[in-house]
Amino acid sequence: MNDHAQSAMYRGVKILHDPVRNKGTAYTEAERDHLKLRGLLPPRVHTAAEQELRVLGNVREKPTDLERYLYLVSLQDRNETLFYRVVMNNIEEMMPIIYTPTVGQACQEFQHIFRNPRGFYVSLQDRGHVREIMQNWPHKDAKIIVVTDGERVLGLGDLGADGMGIAIGKLALYTACSGIHPTHCMPVMLDVGTNNESLLNDPLYNGLECRRVRGERYDELVDEFICAANEVFPGVVIQLEDFGNANAFRLLEQYRDQVCLFDDDIQGTGAVALSGIMGALRITGGKLSEQKILFLGAGEAGIGTADAFVAALGEQGIAPEQARKHCWFVDTKGLLVADRKNIPAQKQPYAHDHAQIDDLLDAVMALRPTAILGLSGQPGTFTREVIEAMAAINDQPIIFALSNPTSQAECTATQAYSYSDGRAIFASGSPFDPVKLGNQTFVPGQGNNAYIFPGVGLGAIVSGARTITDDMFLVAAHSLANQVKDTDLERGRVYPPLSRIRKVSAVIGRDVANLVYDKGLTDKERPEDISADIREYMYQPVYPHYA
Ligand code: NAD
Repeated sequence: MNDHAQSAMYRGVKILHDPVRNKGTAYTEAERDHLKLRGLLPPRVHTAAEQELRVLGNVREKPTDLERYLYLVSLQDRNETLFYRVVMNNIEEMMPIIYTPTVGQACQEFQHIFRNPRGFYVSLQDRGHVREIMQNWPHKDAKIIVVTDGERVLGLGDLGADGMGIAIGKLALYTACSGIHPTHCMPVMLDVGTNNESLLNDPLYNGLECRRVRGERYDELVDEFICAANEVFPGVVIQLEDFGNANAFRLLEQYRDQVCLFDDDIQGTGAVALSGIMGALRITGGKLSEQKILFLGAGEAGIGTADAFVAALGEQGIAPEQARKHCWFVDTKGLLVADRKNIPAQKQPYAHDHAQIDDLLDAVMALRPTAILGLSGQPGTFTREVIEAMAAINDQPIIFALSNPTSQAECTATQAYSYSDGRAIFASGSPFDPVKLGNQTFVPGQGNNAYIFPGVGLGAIVSGARTITDDMFLVAAHSLANQVKDTDLERGRVYPPLSRIRKVSAVIGRDVANLVYDKGLTDKERPEDISADIREYMYQPVYPHYA
């Protein structure tokens, strides 16, 4: 249906209450006549630029980031085009509000700040009817679903149904960073209960009032959802988001070859961290094959990153068993060593022969790593002693505190730079301000999978990929690393600035799509110009004309 025909269906108050078509005070005089809006709006017609100014003024006046989040989400509910215009034109300012760190606080308070049910809820009560209820979703052309069961939201633990906030935030980035049309995005919360006592005791909690269901009932609901999603939206890309450790790895293994699905915490994080290491090596002059990485945290993100590193060494002809020896892990039980009992399958390849070591500092001293990567969700674990030890061992230690949100980061940017006398190459999962040390200013890069998933999703959607492979993430990691400029590196930044994220994601999308065509992972014919195809697909936050 063209805009004109659609406008016949949406007139008067109805169009003003439709966030996809609403232009607020930007409807022209002719549109106001045509759409029967006379009297329903103040007389002055504003441009989108003027509306943006008003929004920015309001956002900046709010006393807290959570208030800013609420204001922006309510704008998204009223006028999506303006919301995305504001976010995209001011991405460095807006991303920390609609995404980490503020989205973490929003999820923690979701039941109290709840206003509008953006997103789709599938609960245990829907068992047997998931396909049917998915038809209730208002947009018939979902191309990407971010689904969570809320068990491990950022580094904040089990937030149950309140994890919906993270699915919404991720999809807002799909639109803002890589131009996936807002109506192609579907946030889904799979409500299987929660073990979070304070939520269960809160009368305002929106989710099921039961403890987390596991085993067969859980698996059946997940399976029903994944099948239903593919029937209702054939070929939809499904991003698993913030599932607990025990489910994330096995769900990825179970479904990755059946449908177009990936796990952002495992694969997206792996690609972004790998890319950061590649960037860091451009500063140190080191080689990938010379690195010894010590991870704090052997969960989805840690193992995913090690797997990505091993894949990158594989490209250089290094066999996986050899490559894995470059990766060491410290988790809640200390150093991951071969004679530990009951090691989960995904960790086993990284359990090396070594004496047991209980803590990170001792592990740093014993192993002498070139890089430490924090993916534990435990703040303050990169202590002064740990950072000083890394600086004593390396001229330019790579120190990435990748846990989110900011409150969970293993160390701050200031700590990393000051305890290493400004020699650390630092990146963090959530943003930190530039740090001044003497007469030098360091600009920490944001090692967040937001640099990866939007581009991978874009490439997969535009090329019509049937499946999402690890190779696509490896390509995305190279693509991202190649877009870091020397001028970024000179300031200590191993990722491109967020202000370039749309261009960066478009290039990642192109490179991923290229791989999809090369490997025959699609039924679509390769277009003459993949970049043009990508550009043409990408959503722009521009009002349509209705008259
Ligand atoms: P997870 O629950 O799968 O794994 C957490 C791991 O940390 C486990 O191995 C656990 O044993 C270990 N751990 C917990 N406390 C520890 C301690 N005190 N000392 C040592 N190890 C400890 O979670 P995950 O998905 O791997 O995520 C971990 C963190 O990484 C979260 O904070 C998350 O926000 C962050 N993360 C960041 C990005 C990014 O793009 N920067 C992406 C994904 C995850």
